[in-house]
Amino acid sequence: MAEKPKVAICWLGGCGGCDEAVVDINEVILRVVDAVDLILWPVALDFKYHHIEAMKDGEIALSVINGHVRNSDHKEIAELLRRKSQLVLAFGACACFGGTPGLANLTTKEDIFNWVYRDAPTVVNPKGNHPQPKVSVDGKELTLPEFYEHVYALNQVIDVDYYLPGCPPPPDLVVNAITAVLEAKLPPKGSTLAPHKALCDTCPRNKTKPAKIAISDIKRIHEVEADPNSCFLVQGILCLGPATRAGCGEACIDINIPCRGCFGPVEGVADAGAKFASALASIIDVEDEEEVKKSIDTIDDVIGYFYRFSLPSSILGKKDLKKTI
Ligand code: SF4
Ligand code: SF4
Ligand code: SF4
Repeated sequence: MAEKPKVAICWLGGCGGCDEAVVDINEVILRVVDAVDLILWPVALDFKYHHIEAMKDGEIALSVINGHVRNSDHKEIAELLRRKSQLVLAFGACACFGGTPGLANLTTKEDIFNWVYRDAPTVVNPKGNHPQPKVSVDGKELTLPEFYEHVYALNQVIDVDYYLPGCPPPPDLVVNAITAVLEAKLPPKGSTLAPHKALCDTCPRNKTKPAKIAISDIKRIHEVEADPNSCFLVQGILCLGPATRAGCGEACIDINIPCRGCFGPVEGVADAGAKFASALASIIDVEDEEEVKKSIDTIDDVIGYFYRFSLPSSILGKKDLKKTI
């Protein structure tokens, strides 16, 4: 019997939601398990990294990696899987762009450690201990992964072949991606395995947009009762649909929540936040610069809103992303 292709699924610095998304494909998982030899899936199977180290380079057909890279452990695992795999799929917003944890790049490692181990009101740490990569206890050396200064998207650490965005990716796109791999019907290397258009192009509310949107007041969803049938932007509610890739099936829009951008930038756009800022600037209907500033100032946490899932891989984020690993 021909050997089945070996597949690894691995979780770096994510929340676990992307691993759940693999299970969310329901009965298709049985077809997958039948068609491939799962040789690593730490959340579900008891394989060890030394089993992977013992394999030949390129022996794994596909590694599906979710989560961002924040410490030396993540980097080591990503590099190991890259070496052993013919293909690497960045799975989910954290792996593709840095994800929501990437907003930590707005602060420093020192500030994070000070808060977590010293300043948070719930912390009791009279000796002021901070985790160290190496520490000696009773003459024995103990080690911990090194916590990096920045959060990295996967392709900032290893070469990535394909991208499947979403927080987490939806089941239909997961199934399509798996089928494309199993049937060797993959698009060119570097492709995103999701539609190449903007969410607005597939959104049922797009038809409610007038030829020109003009808003003078920017609102956030919790401040108003949104009309469930009309475009959020027309209602003055921030919705990142114009700058976000389609493919989620309008998951948030369907439950009357505007898009926050988890599918990352539209094809050909390097920076989702900048694209959305420019879309927003074109619909703000105020006279002078001062008024524009006043409107923008009504948005709490502009960077957090525009770059919620993509700061490390954005032009803005990269500017500050000194190579520290
Ligand atoms: S992309 Fe979303 S669901 Fe996946 S690991 Fe990151 S935060 Fe969790
Ligand atoms: S801005 Fe939002 S609500 Fe309006 S069409 Fe685009 S995705 Fe839909
Ligand atoms: S609507 Fe936007 S934030 Fe919600 S799932 Fe789709 S891409 Fe992600």
